[in-house]
Amino acid sequence: MSLIQHLINGELVTDNGRSADVFNPSTGQVIHQVPLASRETMQVAIDSAKAAFPAWRNTPPAKRAQVMFRFKQLLEQNEARISQLISEEHGKTLEDAAGELKRGIENVEYACSAPEILKGEYSRNVGPNIDAWSDFQPLGVVAGITPFNFPAMVPLWMYPLAIVCGNCFILKPSERDPSSTLLIAQLLLEAGLPKGVLSVVHGDKGAVDALIEAPEVKALSFVGSTPIAEYIYSEATKRGKRVQALGGAKNHAVLMPDADLDNAVSALMGAAYGSCGERCMAISVAVCVGDQVADALIAKLVPQIKALKIGAGTSCGLDMGPLVSAQARDKVSGYIEDGVSSGAKLVVDGRGLSVAGNEDGFFLGGCLFDRVTPQMRIYKEEIFGPVLCVVRVNSLEDAMQLINDHEYGNGTCIFTRDGEAARLFCDEIEVGMVGVNVPLPVPVAYHSFGGWKRSLFGDLHAYGPDGVRFYTRRKAITQRWPQRASHEASQFAFPSL
Ligand code: NAD
Repeated sequence: MSLIQHLINGELVTDNGRSADVFNPSTGQVIHQVPLASRETMQVAIDSAKAAFPAWRNTPPAKRAQVMFRFKQLLEQNEARISQLISEEHGKTLEDAAGELKRGIENVEYACSAPEILKGEYSRNVGPNIDAWSDFQPLGVVAGITPFNFPAMVPLWMYPLAIVCGNCFILKPSERDPSSTLLIAQLLLEAGLPKGVLSVVHGDKGAVDALIEAPEVKALSFVGSTPIAEYIYSEATKRGKRVQALGGAKNHAVLMPDADLDNAVSALMGAAYGSCGERCMAISVAVCVGDQVADALIAKLVPQIKALKIGAGTSCGLDMGPLVSAQARDKVSGYIEDGVSSGAKLVVDGRGLSVAGNEDGFFLGGCLFDRVTPQMRIYKEEIFGPVLCVVRVNSLEDAMQLINDHEYGNGTCIFTRDGEAARLFCDEIEVGMVGVNVPLPVPVAYHSFGGWKRSLFGDLHAYGPDGVRFYTRRKAITQRWPQRASHEASQFAFPSL
């Protein structure tokens, strides 16, 4: 068992203060200890970022981008090693881990276009001899706090873009699976990033509070559960920081009577049970328009759920690994109990699953509930496990009302062959990311990612064009060079043409 280190000011730093266990969820064994930084340790990282900022902000964007080109290559060369680390600590399958890394690399590719995305705007002759332009300037020291469920991809949503925009970044990754996150940051230093521009400081609430309270930290990006997102948003904005805090979700898929059911079923299987349901874009509710659709859907889903290949994430060819922790498994099992006692029909019960050779792993099989109603806790709350709830409604309008009434608004999708229904859905649904026959509509890196309602606190979405806006401040400059021969009288009225 080893003690994981912080990466501060370009050096791996051992911290003998408080620490937490890191588990391999497939075996149930503790495999590492992760330090939980004190305020003093966090301050060292903040100071190093502050010291690195003046030189980094003056480094030409094209040079910053060159570091990202090398970083992308290193990430690709290290894909197997990174996927192994993700899978060992998170539990997701190797293929799924490689998939999240690829989606993360897309954000590095976007960051490679720094000279293009940081081009300002220029207007000549806005008045006599007056030119005007606007720039995107960096904020200074900015920080990110990330969840366990995408230890590679979510940090890559944040710091490549923040850094090419000229900022220095402090990352506080999830304490549950920090090793892949740390390795990826080390690769960025290997790619040529100057020390202090990116630091990785492990920790829990104490480390996060140190970031919230530090006046040097100008902006915070957060991804995680809604209660923590709301806490960070309110505490950090109170202190004048810019904040984007992405929270939890309850993502509905609407199945229309004309949907291609076989395709919808295979899409739903991956979207509900992939990564053991531990995705913020996982589909956790199937809204069936009409009993016929619901009955046909359930008949097709049941054998496939029972046939899910479940085992240690690091084995090949599996559909699903374990949940991240014993607490996560027990919490999801508690929801299943609650669903049964509140009257939902448990069609497939994944509890009690034992995986041969990994009997102590945090496994739970796929679960399916039918006849779920909006009053039930299993409908209202985010379960974050391999549980799909079927809700029956009579019309598309009822389906949309249901979704619009839910407190979360991260992702949703509709399965249909009807263009008119799909268009109405896209126009009227109160959700930030919408798929039409696409179950996980996670935007590509050059569009931005974000939910509505209590799935996001803040105004700007993550990565893409919104990410550039978030990590820069706009400055508008108006410049005049008077002609030598002319003298202009004072003007007391408000300047206009
Ligand atoms: P979490 O909220 O428990 O933790 C997220 C981060 O916050 C971690 O770094 C953690 O150390 C820190 N943290 C935890 N408790 C804290 C506290 N009291 N004060 C300050 N910081 C604290 O989330 P998680 O369990 O790691 O991740 C799962 C959640 O993240 C789910 O709700 C999921 O929907 C959400 N998520 C959302 C998105 C999105 O884009 N909207 C993406 C991924 C995950």
